[in-house]
Amino acid sequence: MDKMPSWTLKFQEAFRDSETLSNFLGWKTSEKVTKIYPVFIPRDLAQRMKDEGQNGVLAREFFPDEAELIDQGYLDPIGDKKFNVAPQIIHRYPNRVLFTATSVCPVHCRYCFRKNELSPNDEIFETDFEKTLNYLREHSEISEIIFTGGDPLTLTDAKLDRTLEAFSKISHIKDIRFHTRYPAILPERIDEGFVGLLNKWSRHFRTISLAVHANHVKEFSCASKSALKLLAGARIQLLSQTVLLKNVNDSEKALTELMEFFVDHKVRPYYLHHPDQVRGGMHFYLSLEEGRSLYHSLRKNLPGWAIPQYVIDVPGGHGKIPAANPEAHSYSGNLLSLSGETISISEPHAQV
Ligand code: SF4
Repeated sequence: MDKMPSWTLKFQEAFRDSETLSNFLGWKTSEKVTKIYPVFIPRDLAQRMKDEGQNGVLAREFFPDEAELIDQGYLDPIGDKKFNVAPQIIHRYPNRVLFTATSVCPVHCRYCFRKNELSPNDEIFETDFEKTLNYLREHSEISEIIFTGGDPLTLTDAKLDRTLEAFSKISHIKDIRFHTRYPAILPERIDEGFVGLLNKWSRHFRTISLAVHANHVKEFSCASKSALKLLAGARIQLLSQTVLLKNVNDSEKALTELMEFFVDHKVRPYYLHHPDQVRGGMHFYLSLEEGRSLYHSLRKNLPGWAIPQYVIDVPGGHGKIPAANPEAHSYSGNLLSLSGETISISEPHAQV
């Protein structure tokens, strides 16, 4: 029998009940919170979180907080559901689709816009996969498949390989993209086997991109840096993805350091997302004005090629638009005019 890769063991050993986590950290968790939004934290990350302390950035991002009970925000803040056209497929933009490969993640981020859909151990992979393929075959305008989740790297290399093979047989699919938190959170997932898989399929697809999701330099351990080094040697585009979060990275210093870290590790700054109005995550929310002021400060500190695009997913399924260019969309205070409709993007909403 094949030896299990080390990351799967680390995944299995992760803290997934609040009592064991509380005992390890010596911090109290609120059961009221974890009953609704469970915990899932790999042990190495929990150790780093403990070392940093309960008021640290890592605790803020991953440790349950009573503020998650605030009765505001949307269950589906970016309106994905109405674009869920086939099993595991969200088709919002003509030429690209999201493929939700799994609902399992290597950590439960307390701010996540999918926090109301995550599962600790239940894969949805291969649910009606033939229907998924049929949809893709019938839509020749689709050229890119974006693997999302949960976190798509939770799938084993063998499953990813089979999936990529199936997609490779659809001639109009040219580009593949992965969005993942593994390099920062459970970096052992990035091993020679995975890089070999990327290199193998890079010969077939026009591009393979991997977007590293991280919000603060403190997320990266020594093992994360080794993982990024491995990825930098692969035949792929390495991109970054960051969510702007109140009391985590909402400072000029934190954002500048993070972008410099990405550049140092050959990751191209790609996206800075304005936070979504997610139910259970409204304590991370900040206004568009604050976000834009921080973003403009990046321009002073970094060259243009090291600055990510600052984007906002407009509530209600209106899609992603630039958040920094007042000339591109008409903003007035907290209101945005889009296609004749006026939408509030800073006022916290009651649950929808
Ligand atoms: S890993 Fe991604 S999908 Fe999973 S909880 Fe974190 S942000 Fe959400």
